[in-house]
Amino acid sequence: MSIAGNVGLADLPRICPLISRRVQGRSDSAETRVVQVGAVRFGEARPVVIAGPCAVESREQTLAVARAVKAAGAEMLRGGAFKPRTSPHDFQGLGEEGLKILREASRETGLPVVTEVMDTRLVETVAKYADMLQIGSRNMQNYPLLVEAGKSGKPVLLKRGMAASLCEWLGAAEYIAKEGNLEIVLCERGIRAFPAGEYSRNVLDLSVIPAIKAETFLPVIVDPSHATGVTRMVEGASCAAIEYGSHGLIIEVACDDAGAARPMCDAAQAINPETLKRIVQFVDSHTESRVMRKAHAV
Ligand code: PEP
Ligand code: MN
Repeated sequence: MSIAGNVGLADLPRICPLISRRVQGRSDSAETRVVQVGAVRFGEARPVVIAGPCAVESREQTLAVARAVKAAGAEMLRGGAFKPRTSPHDFQGLGEEGLKILREASRETGLPVVTEVMDTRLVETVAKYADMLQIGSRNMQNYPLLVEAGKSGKPVLLKRGMAASLCEWLGAAEYIAKEGNLEIVLCERGIRAFPAGEYSRNVLDLSVIPAIKAETFLPVIVDPSHATGVTRMVEGASCAAIEYGSHGLIIEVACDDAGAARPMCDAAQAINPETLKRIVQFVDSHTESRVMRKAHAV
């Protein structure tokens, strides 16, 4: 500890012994804990692509995006039923109705669903419909929520706080682990740093991926949509994240065929299904070469 309250990487074994690679003795940084959500496995050679709308806005929109996402080759569906919005006057999500729609989309496509829970009082409700709980950036340090998510027994996608250090982020993951739940996937979603906001929504911190792999055995994925905030940047950010060793991606998608409504939420960063398909193809070819490299190494 240097300044009172400040912590550094040297403090991690004390802050988060349950998820610390140094404490738990999994010294090979290639060894990752596999987190399973339905048939989907995070932490293996093949990165997992999660895709779907920012928000569940209607049944029609969600089913259309879910079908497109499935057709593009993604393995899991995302979508917010409870939305953390900057203005309380903006669309807040459809709530439990949205969860039911997600469940229906999952049943039809076979894709497991991850959705955000923002409130301790709603963990049970969200866990009833979701295959994986998402803790959003704004709630990364909502400790009572982390505890409840831990107790739920559901796998948790823990997004990085937009101003969180690696130690704070892993400390948050430890709260979930302390409840006996090690089914945690970390998600880098961009941080607030100069020049965030000028030409991109946040700054995508790719360097954190190898740093995480050195410190913990938990899988880590990247959200190129919130990291960049710009549709035309999402594909490049996705490929870069995979090249950098990300165990997966979570991407916002909107249908762009004639008649499809413009999303109320985060339209400026949504990609179309065709772009998603290219990203999935990139992930496929990357996985093949990764597996081949490994085979040649032994
Ligand atoms: C989201 O993924 O729906 C979201 C709100 O992201 P974040 O918490 O990273 O801002
Ligand atoms: Mn969004």
